Amino acid sequence: MKTYSIAAIPGDGIGTEVIAAGIEALRALADREGKLQFKFDHFDWGGEYYKKNGRMMPENGRDQIRNHDAILFGSAGHPDIPDHITLWGLRLAICQPFDQYANVRPTRILPGITSPLRAVKDKELDWVIVRENSEGEYAGVGGRVHQGSPLEAATDVAMFTRAGVERVMRFAFKLARSRPRKLLTVVTKSNAQRHAMVMWDEIATEIAREFPDVTWDKMLVDAMTMRMVMRPQTIDTVVATNLHADILSDLAAALAGSLGIAPTGNINPERTFPSMFEPIHGSAFDIMGKGIANPIGTFWSSVMMLEHLGEQAAAGRLMKAIERVTANPKFHTPDLGGNARTADVTAAVIDAIRGAND
Ligand code: NAD
Ligand code: MN
Repeated sequence: MKTYSIAAIPGDGIGTEVIAAGIEALRALADREGKLQFKFDHFDWGGEYYKKNGRMMPENGRDQIRNHDAILFGSAGHPDIPDHITLWGLRLAICQPFDQYANVRPTRILPGITSPLRAVKDKELDWVIVRENSEGEYAGVGGRVHQGSPLEAATDVAMFTRAGVERVMRFAFKLARSRPRKLLTVVTKSNAQRHAMVMWDEIATEIAREFPDVTWDKMLVDAMTMRMVMRPQTIDTVVATNLHADILSDLAAALAGSLGIAPTGNINPERTFPSMFEPIHGSAFDIMGKGIANPIGTFWSSVMMLEHLGEQAAAGRLMKAIERVTANPKFHTPDLGGNARTADVTAAVIDAIRGAND
């Protein structure tokens, strides 16, 4: 029996609701598989913790989760606390020091879900976006001076390093090569940003030589938004900077039906540190506490976690259960136009896990 220790950090808002659902589903999956089990350690870090302690997580927080096999994360974001404090104090305080530099975001249209794109058929939208997750526009470099005076000034400096760009390019080319179409689009903005983005393009060209079997092209980020909407079938794997991919992946999630479905993995490919899996969405203040958050994004993120742990059979079983449930509109939450509640979807996925024979 293999036991995986998972650090569960629900955070705030609907993060707490969807992580509870995810843990239920993973427990049912372990029972069904019989060959693995999970030991969940719960960490109550986030906005409420901040109100009591003046910080989002304890000073030695990372030491408490450093030796776990993976982290299952909900959302950082609290209605009473500024977003930059919650984000930098928790999510980025884990991603950056744990060097989870590849943020992987698969998108496809699951059975039973309708894309807002008029003509797209399910198989025509099947993408993975790789987001650089350690530097770029979110490196944290910058400053603010003369606050409140007419001379006030502020900068956020986008910082790109050769090592940082090379490693994320190599990761993306490898991922593209592992998929049937072997197709990669490198998103850039080297027309307007003439230093870092030009280096980004040059490094892409260099790394491409290591992957002669991968077909790749380059696209300016503004044009990329149009291509995602107008010609989704021409896209497969995508690599983009921290900011660009942040935006493109919310668009991708919406084009695949709802932000509530979309999963992500913050991957430390060298496995020096645990990787962190989370739904793409945030705390969703407008629906928190109502019991209607879509838990599918968390279930799909759990599939990614299982794949990362090498549990391919369990991952496959959970993904099949998810698809069986999305195929039935009775189990669509309001974001998908239905009336189902978080608990209904969770129970249906657990039923499907128990029922699946293959
Ligand atoms: P959001 O993702 O929380 O919500 C955007 C919209 O999508 C809302 O209308 C929400 O109701 C809907 N939505 C999101 N997830 C859903 C789900 N599972 N089921 C049904 N509907 C869902 O984004 P926001 O409103 O921009 O941000 C709210 C807070 O969350 C902010 O504090 C923000 O900083 C934080 N946030 C955190 C993360 C993270 O920790 N990874 C990501 C995004 C936003
Ligand atoms: Mn985002």
